[in-house]
Amino acid sequence: MKKRSIGFRLAAWYFLVLGCGLAAFSIIAWFAMQASIYHAIDDELRDRVRGVAKFMDLQTASLSIPEVRDEFREHSVLGPGGDLFQVCDQDGQWLYRSVPLEGNNVPIIRPTALDIPRFETLRVQGRLLRFYSRRIDVNGKPYTVQVAAPLHEAFEALDRFRLLLLFAAPLLLVAASAGGYWLSTRALSPVDEISRAAQRISIENLADRLPVSQTGDQLQRLSETLNAMFSRLDAAVRRITQFTADASHELRAPVSLIRTTAEVAVQKEDRTAQEYFQALQEIVSESERTSQVVDSLMLLARADSGTETLECADIDACTIVREAAAQGERLARNHGLAFLLKLPKAPVPIEADSNALRRALLILIDNAVKYTPRGGSISIELQTSKGFAVVSVSDNGIGIAKTEIPHIFDRFWRADKARSREEGGAGLGLSIAKWIIEMHRGTIDVGSELGTGSTFYVRTPLHDRTVR
Ligand code: ADP
Repeated sequence: MKKRSIGFRLAAWYFLVLGCGLAAFSIIAWFAMQASIYHAIDDELRDRVRGVAKFMDLQTASLSIPEVRDEFREHSVLGPGGDLFQVCDQDGQWLYRSVPLEGNNVPIIRPTALDIPRFETLRVQGRLLRFYSRRIDVNGKPYTVQVAAPLHEAFEALDRFRLLLLFAAPLLLVAASAGGYWLSTRALSPVDEISRAAQRISIENLADRLPVSQTGDQLQRLSETLNAMFSRLDAAVRRITQFTADASHELRAPVSLIRTTAEVAVQKEDRTAQEYFQALQEIVSESERTSQVVDSLMLLARADSGTETLECADIDACTIVREAAAQGERLARNHGLAFLLKLPKAPVPIEADSNALRRALLILIDNAVKYTPRGGSISIELQTSKGFAVVSVSDNGIGIAKTEIPHIFDRFWRADKARSREEGGAGLGLSIAKWIIEMHRGTIDVGSELGTGSTFYVRTPLHDRTVR
């Protein structure tokens, strides 16, 4: 089912919440009004009983009963609702009973049975009356005074109020919801602006940014978040573009060298077998180098896409270092370099993909060999430190300048491009080594000084289980 727009949903919620609020308010207001009407009537009834009591206090001693009745009759008609009252003595005899109450069904309450004053609502001859009955003592004799007030006027007011609520509340609700809908669409219009601006940004103009209004609210945060995302995308696209350019450059050089060598070889027909052999040898070695670059590029591409995974197992780091060193030693000796390996006696348990980790170490050893002149030396050492297995690969070769150290793990980065090319490096070795080591939750660092030599440190976490 198609979802409604956010503006509509906001207005619907607003309608619902406001509707419940208005309904609750109307019910509370109606009951509050009813309570306040009863309160006002009850207060008035209390006052009237007090008036009767005062009158009887002053007059009953000096007047006869018929005179008292006359006085009551005279005074009772003056006040509002004053004609509704009756007084009886302790024997249940009426001392006074106003005309509208005569012959009604109001039960007589003897003063002796009326310890606590009592309010009640009774229907008398079809009219609803509010009664207040209280015992008073005059000259030592108890009497029951009952005063009443009609409720129909109050009920009419309550009915009018209820009608008002019934009509006004829905009207208010509809008007407020329409206003809410208008407000929500207005409040969301900047979001539309942001999405229109975001739509204009594509791969061609990834450096463009959305305008950020300094409102400190969600809209500012949304624009800033989108801008931060564009920055990340921009950087990623730049990296990919740079990578593609570097990769094509790196591949073009050997391919054109192969082509030139082959072209030169076939230009003249009367070449000696030795010349052809030399040309083919060059082509083979350039092809090998090209395949290596392609392999490295493919590995990095798989690493970037997350498809290249490692198969880690519990292993003794000494085994991996020993295997890598065996290969490295042959390489070092071929280049006229001394080679030293130092391993601890106890096993160093780590969880690793032995092929991958060996490859990373070989990259470091290969670099040490490449960048150390004849007569130099290379040493490999494995130690444990603070929960890590630490392999250090040191050489006393040409070293790396301080300014270049931050770049050496970048792809295609070479300190001395011309010379490195001769050595066969494409500037991808250290990026691959770094990726492998980070996949082992480890780190790689370098300490180096130009002209003195370099030491690369590989740290991988020790594994607490016993080595199998
Ligand atoms: P390459 O294949 O060119 O060796 P790497 O990524 O392995 O590429 O190394 C990047 C650069 O770092 C090298 O070109 C070199 O300038 C520098 N480098 C790496 N290892 C050493 C080292 N042991 N001594 C001096 N320079 C080094």
